[in-house]
Amino acid sequence: MKQKWSINDAQKLYGISNWGAGYFGIDDLGCLTVSPDAEFKPGVRMTEIIEEARKLGLEAPLHVRFQDILHHRVQRLNEAFAEAISEHDYQASYQGVYPIKVNQLREVVEALLEAGDPYKLGIEAGSKPELLLALSLHKNYQSLLLCNGYKDETYIRYALAGLKLGKKVIIIVEKLEELPVILEVAAELKVRPMIGLRVKLATRSSGQWATSSGDNAKFGLSSVDILQAIELLTERDLLDTVKLLHFHIGSQIPEINVISRAVREGARFYAKLAERGCTIEYVDVGGGLGIDYDGSASSQASSVNYSLREYASAIICGLKEVCNEEKVVQPTVITESGRALVAHHSVLVIESFGKIHKQNTLKSMPEPASLHRLVQDVLDIRKTLAKGHLVEAFHDLVYYKQQALSLFDLGFLDLESRAVIDSLYWEIGSQIAEQCKNLEKVPHEIKTLLDELKDQYLMNFSVFRSLIDFWALGQNFPIVPLDRLEQKPDCEAILADITCDSDGKIDRFIGAPVGEKNALLLHNLDDKPYFLGVFLTGAYQDTLGDMHNLFGRMNEVHIVLDPDEEGGWYVDQDIAGDKVDEMLTQNEYSVSELVRAFKAQVDQAIKSDRVRPSEGVGILNDYEKAMSGYTYLSVSKK
Ligand code: PLP
Repeated sequence: MKQKWSINDAQKLYGISNWGAGYFGIDDLGCLTVSPDAEFKPGVRMTEIIEEARKLGLEAPLHVRFQDILHHRVQRLNEAFAEAISEHDYQASYQGVYPIKVNQLREVVEALLEAGDPYKLGIEAGSKPELLLALSLHKNYQSLLLCNGYKDETYIRYALAGLKLGKKVIIIVEKLEELPVILEVAAELKVRPMIGLRVKLATRSSGQWATSSGDNAKFGLSSVDILQAIELLTERDLLDTVKLLHFHIGSQIPEINVISRAVREGARFYAKLAERGCTIEYVDVGGGLGIDYDGSASSQASSVNYSLREYASAIICGLKEVCNEEKVVQPTVITESGRALVAHHSVLVIESFGKIHKQNTLKSMPEPASLHRLVQDVLDIRKTLAKGHLVEAFHDLVYYKQQALSLFDLGFLDLESRAVIDSLYWEIGSQIAEQCKNLEKVPHEIKTLLDELKDQYLMNFSVFRSLIDFWALGQNFPIVPLDRLEQKPDCEAILADITCDSDGKIDRFIGAPVGEKNALLLHNLDDKPYFLGVFLTGAYQDTLGDMHNLFGRMNEVHIVLDPDEEGGWYVDQDIAGDKVDEMLTQNEYSVSELVRAFKAQVDQAIKSDRVRPSEGVGILNDYEKAMSGYTYLSVSKK
């Protein structure tokens, strides 16, 4: 009898309400929906967006961005701080800055700045190119423009030019040697700089970015450096130019207690400097506000054990307590939250184009008499399986398979016998695995066998281009089929990408409600398209991806809600992904030269009668056409 399956089961299996922050759900038809703000119910169907993108000529793989989610995140962050300030009767305000590096795409930054305008959301630049971009994008002169990262003289010059224009540009000193250069250039430009000091805290985070603080951190000033900086500024009568104290102990901080400790340590530095006459206006607690990627609400690296509200409260409370104890003025609070603003807005849509199914056994078994005697040994294992002794049976199976491989290598086993033994290995192996699956204690070797038996769904995308933190940092992302969620998925699978690298696969998945799984339950493939959504990919993944195998940027559609539209939404922007010729040009190739060189080879083949002239023309036309095509496979099912 078929087990009953409901949409609630799908919700639970994929943990959607645990990690979705209210933005994602499943409708009655079993389609995944997105509700970019709390008011838009029942949400936009992802499959309808994919259909619309297709009409615009944009196939998967595809990025779907929800501009309204960006707006909503900005609003929620600012509201959380406003509530904490009012609840704790804090005597100063909150201002955010957006670190461009987290996602520097124009539409993303513009949407954030637009949403952040009423809240004076500023920009954080971490490099010279980012500063050049920020100088132009930064239009709200009430908001801050913070300059982080190592700086050369030119970087400092641009920053001071911004200050001259009337912007609140604060140059944050990352290492002591930067300070004299800032003072020299400022003197030359006849401008009084606004200086920030980044302090190296002893408080360390757990998780992937733990090395961002502590004595060995790459950035920031030690307590000794801070005293020397103060001395230098006092000598030059410039102590009042120190406007900000900054610290950043890492991104994705999983534990609230770590944040509380860091804030208190940072607040002490602020207070001690204030006591020495520094009129610091801002305390900048950096980034680190994390996302619950796996929905476990725990202190695991892919999660956070706190809410946005608790985060704001911990910061406001910590600062207030220390300032009261030290009897200093409560400063304006700055956060450099990036991940928490942009992670939710982007869904990576990938399509399956087949699977590697190891249990594909031979259609018909040749007569055993015509095969090698090893085949009979393996068949005997199958006969005795019913009697139990599963682990012994598995050991025998492995033994005979190894024997078969050695004999094949030495030329003593024919191809048919090898195919029969391979086929029997997976057939008998899966029977053993099935019978052992529910044992109280599954032997280690059988667990490995279970892993080996999983199907590999072939997905048209590149892990290295679009999900680099999965590969580089072991970061897990939620992955969910975009429809058929009303049907029970019964195929345990891992995902293989289309790069030619064996690392190009996803074989770890979030476990719901907690932990990690090494397979994802998916539906069997049929003749219809099968799309998966990879969620919470809006932070860092767009910007860090590489060009492995020359796979380029993906197609994109940006969705905006509008109640006047028929479905309540429309595609605001459709952006075609990189073409092959663009990827080649980025790698210093001249596409016209490549075409010319290829044409010469086609001409030669025609001359030497290898191909007919009409064939040659066809080959050349196809080559030129492919050059201006998408870098990913054209395997979309209609
Ligand atoms: N500020 C600084 C100095 C950073 O290095 C980073 C990222 O690591 C951020 C802000 C953004 O952090 P998050 O994305 O965790 O908010």
